[in-house]
Amino acid sequence: MSSSESYDDALATRPFKHRIDRRDRRALAEELIVLDHGPDVYRVYSEAGKEYLVDTRLPSCTCPDFQYRDTDCKHIRRARIETGERSLDAVETEIRDALDELDAHIANLAAQRAELVGLRRDLDRLKQN
Ligand SMILES: [Zn+2]
Repeated sequence: MSSSESYDDALATRPFKHRIDRRDRRALAEELIVLDHGPDVYRVYSEAGKEYLVDTRLPSCTCPDFQYRDTDCKHIRRARIETGERSLDAVETEIRDALDELDAHIANLAAQRAELVGLRRDLDRLKQN
């Protein structure tokens, strides 16, 4: 807490949502199979068994997400992770930073809860007098 920040400001929290990209989350979590097909070209199979052709250099993918939205889809991202084009250390750092931020948020909420429980106890004591 900085000295200019009031106690109440320090307790105030904003809604928290980590910023790990949705396509990165899917690239990590889904059961995708990546097979070599040529230089920088891979066949990537989805959980449903659909095959997509990925070129990590262009980049390009034959899936609808890439075709319609022209953004690096989960297949491109997974191929880059599995081939080492994308550093796992960078992904790990991103996840660790998000966890640290969330832990700080949880600690802040726990402090607010402790204060409220204390206030309820104080109120009960006053009611008994
Ligand atoms: Zn794709």
